Amino acid sequence: MYHLFYKRKELTDEEEQEVCKKCQFCCRYMIEPLNADHSRLEFLKAWGGHRIVTDGENVYSIKPFACKQVTDEGCKIYKERPYWCKQFKGGDTSNVWIPFCRLYEPISEDEKFEMLKKMAPPPLGIGPD
Ligand code: SF4
Ligand code: SF4
Repeated sequence: MYHLFYKRKELTDEEEQEVCKKCQFCCRYMIEPLNADHSRLEFLKAWGGHRIVTDGENVYSIKPFACKQVTDEGCKIYKERPYWCKQFKGGDTSNVWIPFCRLYEPISEDEKFEMLKKMAPPPLGIGPD
């Protein structure tokens, strides 16, 4: 999977878990749009609190401290972690995350070229009428 100029590394679930356990970025510095459905409330409860901020248009929930469940060895409640934590896939769900996410790596110059070629519009005179 490609995102901008990064691609997800090809790792097994177990290997990804090890990478995340060492990184812990998501469990320590989470910013998210506020959406108070049941799964988010479950997540906020597990985290241990949050602060509401707005840029005048959108409302976000920021966590001024790390999740209370995270330890140097990883999540204390990993097997029973909230649904939202189970669904969250770092850079897959937010482009903002990619530069931090160790599940991604920058693509090569050749891959960039191929990707940009695919994104380029067709030459004039070719394409839908
Ligand atoms: S509950 Fe566990 S997986 Fe979810 S943010 Fe906290 S430490 Fe991370
Ligand atoms: S930023 Fe990426 S590697 Fe780090 S904890 Fe989040 S998903 Fe895992």
